[in-house]
Amino acid sequence: MPELPEVESIKNSLSSKIINKTIDEINILSQKNFIGDKNKVIGTKITSLERHGKVLIFKVSNNYFLNIHFKLSGQMLYADNIDSAFYKNIIPFTKTNKMPGKTTRVIIKFTDNSGLFFNDLRKFGWIKVSKKPLIPKGVDVLLKNFTLNYFEKIILASKKPIKILLMDQDKITGIGNIYANDSLFKAKIHPLKKSNELTKKEINNLYQSIKEEINQGIKDKGSSGADEAFILPDGSKGSHQRHFLVYQRENKPCPRCKTLIKRIKQNGRSSFFCPKCQKLVENG
Ligand SMILES: [Zn+2]
Repeated sequence: MPELPEVESIKNSLSSKIINKTIDEINILSQKNFIGDKNKVIGTKITSLERHGKVLIFKVSNNYFLNIHFKLSGQMLYADNIDSAFYKNIIPFTKTNKMPGKTTRVIIKFTDNSGLFFNDLRKFGWIKVSKKPLIPKGVDVLLKNFTLNYFEKIILASKKPIKILLMDQDKITGIGNIYANDSLFKAKIHPLKKSNELTKKEINNLYQSIKEEINQGIKDKGSSGADEAFILPDGSKGSHQRHFLVYQRENKPCPRCKTLIKRIKQNGRSSFFCPKCQKLVENG
């Protein structure tokens, strides 16, 4: 699932390609994945791209917005010529590497015949037309208002396990399973630890770890693990999977102490941790 660094990488890659382009047509191949009246944005120019949490937002010249959520398996591919779009290595989405493919749900065509393919295998993603940008409620990790003070406040106010809190998009937006797991490892905190039982030092370490992990993820242009669908708009892969610390590394040695990494389930999602570096109880 694309998290903050993946969506930021999509935004960075698309900005130079589509800003100032005029939307000529939008072909909706799956009604479930497109919400609102496409005619509100046809004929308008893309004026800016923004990312808020995991949501990518295109602002257009009549002040409407196209909001995009990638959910589990969304992709946004760009082509200079949408009639002959070809990408390398985009399997499992298509065997021919040609777009549109089986999972293409929406095609946005610009007047210069370039365009975007919104692909989504699982069909949970969406594009929504709106008069106001759909900005998530939580504080974005890259914004100035994500302060240590704010972070400490929400942590000490919650009895939920810290990993569940980190992924609560109403509190903090942009962190998903990859960056939650690896940030907790870096800060030496057990994913099951109750949020309000974290010490000041742990909160501070976790705050720094989140920033480091998220920024590393952006530097690496996101994570494209073996069973993940994330790819960049040109069809290429991100490289952050090479820097995973504990995420998807069950039974592999801890990068710090070589103890084998364990996996447990929390709210149906896998949590990975080193039982030696991330203790639930001190001296336990
Ligand atoms: Zn360890």
